[in-house]
Amino acid sequence: MTIIDLRSDTVTKPTSEMYVAMASAEVGDDVYGDDPTVNKLEALAAEKLGKEAALFVPSGTMGNLIAVLTHTKPGQEIILEESSHIFQFEVGSAARVAGVQTRPIIGSRGQMDIERIEKAIRPENIHFPETGLIAIENTHNMSGGAVLPLEYMQQVAELAKSRNLSVHLDGARIFNAATALGTDVKNVAKHADSVMFCLSKGLASPVGSMLVGTQSFINQARKHRKMLGGGLRQAGVLAACGIISLEAMVDRLKEDHENAKYVAKELLESGFFITEPETVETNIVNAVLSCERCNAFELTKLMAEQGVLTGARSKRHFRFVTHKDVTKDDLEKAITVIKSVLTKNC
Ligand SMILES: *Cc1c(COP(=O)(O)O)cnc(C)c1O
Repeated sequence: MTIIDLRSDTVTKPTSEMYVAMASAEVGDDVYGDDPTVNKLEALAAEKLGKEAALFVPSGTMGNLIAVLTHTKPGQEIILEESSHIFQFEVGSAARVAGVQTRPIIGSRGQMDIERIEKAIRPENIHFPETGLIAIENTHNMSGGAVLPLEYMQQVAELAKSRNLSVHLDGARIFNAATALGTDVKNVAKHADSVMFCLSKGLASPVGSMLVGTQSFINQARKHRKMLGGGLRQAGVLAACGIISLEAMVDRLKEDHENAKYVAKELLESGFFITEPETVETNIVNAVLSCERCNAFELTKLMAEQGVLTGARSKRHFRFVTHKDVTKDDLEKAITVIKSVLTKNC
């Protein structure tokens, strides 16, 4: 049985070109700065994002944590969106490891109201923690891959600058954002002091994320990576894939976006789901079951038995993610399976 995996773009397998590159990668000890392939990837990432320097990190979660550690001091407060990945899905590491208090603000499609951010910035007062950082997320995972508009990012950057604060962008899917905006990724990255992005999602690398920023920020970040146990040795075997991600896997993301729109439309037309195809900007589709008695967790199991893997986020809430390992043809098959499971079980 062929498996069609729509749970996440993290499930993408390396391309055949990546396997070849891994087998012949020139390597060295990256903790000594001796791995030429890692060095090449870091230079390439910095150049593509329009920043001074970059750091290869084992995961996006570690990249975000390193950013928080590097921008802040323990006891400070960071402002971030209430459903952001850093606040919801990183095991509380900002609080536990970086020792900062998180100040979540409710957003709409990932956008925290600028006035609310402004109100949340702490004035000097003997009782208050100091605000240390503003974190934003583009694309916004929990809002179904919603894209933060460039004007919005600029407003956040201007506010931060006026209050002498840094902005970290959790850009796990920044290339999806740039693709949807039809702009160079530099124009997205320029509104943040640091950016984390994932090589291991839609860009198909097996492992790894990048953190980019100024040279002095990255120098400190490198030390924090070591502290967290993220200093890798012959990481060039992984970096070789990252180079291919940046050079060969970006242009095809628009296909994933078209496919996600297709999925949203088909699910809506089936009558079993409520989706908003017009709000699907990138590769993530949030879908709510129309039937109130149906249980998404149960239904995912039945779909999995037929080879279609989907994600249930709550009792009535599904998430479908498109990526390079599902073709339009696979999606047509998946829709057929999903409809038949619902026809039989709803
Ligand atoms: C996936 C993701 C991360 C974390 O990346 P991992 O490599 O899975 O640790 C961080 N932020 C967002 C928005 C993500 O979607």
